[in-house]
Amino acid sequence: MYNNCKPMPRLQDTSEEATYRARLRAWLSDNAPSIAKHDVDALKAWQRQLYEAGWLGLTWPAEYGGQGLGFRQQAIFNEEAARAKVPPSVNNIGLMIVGPALIAVGSEEQKRRYLKPILTAEEIWCQGFSEPNAGSDLAGLQARAVDDGDDYVVTGQKIWTSNSLIAEYIWLLARTDPAAPRHKGITALIVDLRSPGVTVKPLRQITGEAEFGEVFFDEVRVPKANRVGAENDGWIVGMKTFTRERANISVSLSVRLQQQFDRLLEGIRGRDVPLDTQQAREVALAYVDSQCLTLTCERLAGRLFGFESSVVKVAWAEMNQRLQEIGISTLGPDAPLLPGGGFDQAGESSSTWGTEALSETGESFENSWQFGYLRSRANTIEGGTSEILRTVIAERVLGLPRK
Ligand SMILES: Cc1cc2nc3c(=O)[nH]c(=O)nc-3n(C[C@H](O)[C@H](O)[C@H](O)COP(=O)(O)OP(=O)(O)OC[C@H]3O[C@@H](n4cnc5c(N)ncnc54)[C@H](O)[C@@H]3O)c2cc1C
Repeated sequence: MYNNCKPMPRLQDTSEEATYRARLRAWLSDNAPSIAKHDVDALKAWQRQLYEAGWLGLTWPAEYGGQGLGFRQQAIFNEEAARAKVPPSVNNIGLMIVGPALIAVGSEEQKRRYLKPILTAEEIWCQGFSEPNAGSDLAGLQARAVDDGDDYVVTGQKIWTSNSLIAEYIWLLARTDPAAPRHKGITALIVDLRSPGVTVKPLRQITGEAEFGEVFFDEVRVPKANRVGAENDGWIVGMKTFTRERANISVSLSVRLQQQFDRLLEGIRGRDVPLDTQQAREVALAYVDSQCLTLTCERLAGRLFGFESSVVKVAWAEMNQRLQEIGISTLGPDAPLLPGGGFDQAGESSSTWGTEALSETGESFENSWQFGYLRSRANTIEGGTSEILRTVIAERVLGLPRK
């Protein structure tokens, strides 16, 4: 009676890309494991398996352990990995932010030292940019790095630092020249989180999880060899982290969005209770909008750079929140506890913790609509808030006059 909402055929694979896609799809279908989201050791082993099979570091130069391929192959990987519902990447910040930035601006020694262990997940990274008084206004950051012989001495606090509870290294922005204009006195540093004077404390989110933490630095000595780029050039170095790899996640997000929409439809059909006119209208409109977003992502896959990626980020974040809200409001009184709204991967996603009601049915809390709804609140904040990104779109993409 219903058509399945499959994405339309892709618009743009060359025959070489189609072959690459087919080989990858077959490998993922044979190898994608089922791993509990909190099983860090298993997630590291999975990343290593991907690396050894040649599916990681696709655009990174071969001399640093990469594959030396193009951004289209990276986009194809992101899309197929999402389609195969592979486990989340345990070192996503290393792979998407730190690695590409080191390739762009790191010293030869830093590239040789740090890139391969990022790929193999031997060293997990986090990103220390945000502070309690510097989020959207990143140039207001106050963590200090004071020149002292061969070292900098770092004192201050970072917040909302994803993966800091499992990371060995932090990619840090700190102020080296408080007298300089705000954007000009900042320096980028690699800091070993096991150094004396570092304290990491978990921050619990509304979902109950602690994906991120607070990181405190109390006179932490950081060798000057760990500076990335020139002293006081940290703003420019930081901006290099907004790379094409990051922009390319849009294609995997759009596949996940489509899967989310399919699960919403399954849930609605499973209830066999007709929707009222308003609910049906919302579902239909969400279908139209999610198809537009998916097709836009497919059209731009591998070709979406810089500020334009903000368009997809805003649209995806708000679309995901809408789908979650529709799920909660259309699936009936027990909607929050039903499976299908949250974290999903190949096979059964057995969580290490969950609500009693869900575990009785063998389902994890992380796969519930309640989890998905609560987690989606962060989508319009993480990676740049929607308000800030709208300003970026107005000023940098559309060229409207700046304030
Ligand atoms: C799940 C998650 C993971 C994160 N991971 C990391 C991480 O790994 N590393 C890291 O460094 N940071 C991380 N962050 C922090 C994130 O980058 C910041 O939360 C974000 O940049 C917003 O900063 P803020 O929280 O200080 O809010 P504020 O900047 O204080 O903003 C508060 C509100 O005011 C609005 N606002 C602020 N300025 C303007 C303006 N000029 N015009 C219009 N509206 C404005 C914002 O849109 C927002 O609605 C993470 C956040 C989340 C939610």
